[in-house]
Amino acid sequence: MIQIAIDGPSGAGKSTVAKALAAKLGIVYVDTGALYRTIGYYVRSKDVDPHDGEAVAKLLPDIHIELAYENGTQQVILNGVALGDKIRTPEMSMYASAVSAIPAVRAFLLETQRSIARKCSVIMDGRDIGTVILPNADVKIFLVASAECRARRRTDELIAKGMQVSYEEVLSDMQARDRADSTREVAPAVAAADAVTFDNSWMTPDECVEKLEALVLATVQKTGATV
Ligand code: C5P
Repeated sequence: MIQIAIDGPSGAGKSTVAKALAAKLGIVYVDTGALYRTIGYYVRSKDVDPHDGEAVAKLLPDIHIELAYENGTQQVILNGVALGDKIRTPEMSMYASAVSAIPAVRAFLLETQRSIARKCSVIMDGRDIGTVILPNADVKIFLVASAECRARRRTDELIAKGMQVSYEEVLSDMQARDRADSTREVAPAVAAADAVTFDNSWMTPDECVEKLEALVLATVQKTGATV
């Protein structure tokens, strides 16, 4: 079995690249940001302040999250209901970032993430996969791109999903979220000491996938891990 961790700031292309790489290698892709978005969604539906750690922690026992896969695309099921793109709005990005700074939320999701990686080979993307969730991952990648590139990609993605957003608004939300994610006390979004930092600002997704695949295959050869 193999564990591949891809961390990095929002919009760096983690999910696009991780999904394509998982399909090439025939292993499971886990988008962990969707888990934090789902908690954010539930907190919003209960009209609770996502910064209020105590109030959010009280809601956790009522939350049951399952992951399902449809044609290789991850679906999150919250208390029996598939959420689809409802967790992908800019508002849910901010809710996810706020609840992700609460230690009880991180502890709640830790086992969900580790138990998937115990069952099968995975490529998991997030902010603390290489540092906290899978500290012994076979391959650790910290994927980065310039803020402007990331905001442009995220704007195009949201517009393609039919949302009305401007580049300026996406850039400023993204910078606020990155600042909060990388400076929070628990599991800040930083590269693991043994991660390979990879800047894909000037690469197409295909080029990036090709390079990362080469990195994974080189590791497999060196360590004897199997996909
Ligand atoms: O990756 P995505 O943008 O969907 O993540 C939404 C938010 O969830 C991030 O801004 C971050 O605050 C949080 N997150 C996290 N740890 C992860 C994945 C996401 O804190 N492993």
